[in-house]
Amino acid sequence: MKRARLKRGSEAPKKKRLRKISQLPAPPAGMKLLKIEKIITPHPYMITPKHLETGRMYLDESTLVEAEERHGAQCEICRKRVRAGVQDRVLSVTEHKKQNVLFMEVPKGDLNEIAGLKKYLFKIKPLLEKLKIDGVAFKQV
Ligand SMILES: [Zn+2]
Repeated sequence: MKRARLKRGSEAPKKKRLRKISQLPAPPAGMKLLKIEKIITPHPYMITPKHLETGRMYLDESTLVEAEERHGAQCEICRKRVRAGVQDRVLSVTEHKKQNVLFMEVPKGDLNEIAGLKKYLFKIKPLLEKLKIDGVAFKQV
């Protein structure tokens, strides 16, 4: 009994994701809706040893803000990107945004020229807003 309950619990997030995808109409032939996933843009916030100083772990947003303000900790990916000249400044933890992204499989080629893709995206736009999906990412196969 207990095992069955645990199993159901661990499947709950998967079902929720499936439900969201199933609320979208099927894409044109040759395309597939893969998943809806939370991603962090422009990249995940990367902690450093400085975030772990003072014997305290700074691992959630509020404590990461504290680590930045009190100890000068910074996202390591930002630091590397600024050093490499590909980013103009180090972003604070709150500037690393969580976004819900719909991942979609589409044929290879120029996205503008894939038959039916634009029409489909315009069709699902109101649903994406309703489901709080911030954007669409394409996997080209
Ligand atoms: Zn960063």
